[in-house]
Amino acid sequence: MTKVSEKALWFKQLSGNKPLIIAGPCSAETPDQVLEIAHGIKDQATIYRAGIWKPRTRPGGFEGVGTIGLKWLQQVKAETGMLLATEVATAEHVELALAHDIDVLWIGARTTVNPFAVQEIADALKGTDKIVFIKNPVNPDLSLWIGGFERLQNAGIEKLGFIHRGFSSYEKIKYRNKPEWQIPIDLQIRFPEIPLINDPSHITGNRELIQQVAQKALDLNFDGLMIETHCTPDLAWSDAAQQVTPNQLQEILSNLVLRDSLN
Ligand code: PEP
Ligand code: MN
Repeated sequence: MTKVSEKALWFKQLSGNKPLIIAGPCSAETPDQVLEIAHGIKDQATIYRAGIWKPRTRPGGFEGVGTIGLKWLQQVKAETGMLLATEVATAEHVELALAHDIDVLWIGARTTVNPFAVQEIADALKGTDKIVFIKNPVNPDLSLWIGGFERLQNAGIEKLGFIHRGFSSYEKIKYRNKPEWQIPIDLQIRFPEIPLINDPSHITGNRELIQQVAQKALDLNFDGLMIETHCTPDLAWSDAAQQVTPNQLQEILSNLVLRDSLN
């Protein structure tokens, strides 16, 4: 079992030995949407997430507002003090995120599958002190996930974490992405000091199932949760079915049984 005391110091300082909560919309849509959500969740989340560049599986969907959204995020930090997180898929995204003081970058599941893309991102991050999370690749390949992590580590990035968001499957299952819990469990055994965050939003694809998946993750000693949150989820421009309102987020978090309280 991974003990909190084994986690990297930067993470213990950030999370205060409680599950780290990352929340915010799938996509930044408008300045008002971004700020309204931020004020709704600022007492519950440490890190505000919003996708600015959205890699879509098929063309035709909303591909993100682009660089202008980074300015909206800066306003979130100015008004709430939350740290800011966004997804980067290219070196150019990294440069723009750095230029706009984004604190936390994550590599999405469709990018982790591509070693050239991960290497380009790692090179662009060299010499920075940013927190970088790497999501699992879309396919259930632990080596590819670890390989992406190692590329970041070899570039000298010290504040690294994993995000488990489940794996694509051709079978019809109740989740959008199969959790394959054994994969993050194996990862935890190999990297006990690296924080492991669960993303029940992208695993379930369904807001009704988020509570149970989040609880399972905490029962398995995950170190935090990334939960997509939107003030009007059904009207969201991406991932509408899985986003929760700030009130629902509060309810989900307050229903969670924390591992420390089990001891
Ligand atoms: C996201 O976090 O909105 C996202 C696109 O995630 P994933 O890379 O896990 O599909
Ligand atoms: Mn999403």
